[in-house]
Amino acid sequence: MADFIGPRLYACYNCRNRVALHDDIVSKHFVAGHRRRAFLFSHVMNLVVGPKMDRRFITGLYTVADVECSDCGEVLGWRYEKVHEESQKYKESKTVLEKFKIVKDNW
Ligand SMILES: [Zn+2]
Repeated sequence: MADFIGPRLYACYNCRNRVALHDDIVSKHFVAGHRRRAFLFSHVMNLVVGPKMDRRFITGLYTVADVECSDCGEVLGWRYEKVHEESQKYKESKTVLEKFKIVKDNW
């Protein structure tokens, strides 16, 4: 498999579990909490979704759930379960991963 060129991936920074494909990034201009950079993904893998909770962000009210690595249990970001603000609906069912919690894999 040495010459196999697969998709570019992101992995958990803690255990290198592969959690997302580079091609599934919807936005690279997200900010999580205290000005930490984050990416919005249309699809993720190998993550466990926690209990839903309502959270108010600057852009409105959201029902979100933390997502954690299925291998090491580290919380890597959150998933938008329900978006109440009409202008933000594109985020629904998508997942935010914090940039400092994911590393490039297979680039
Ligand atoms: Zn992990």
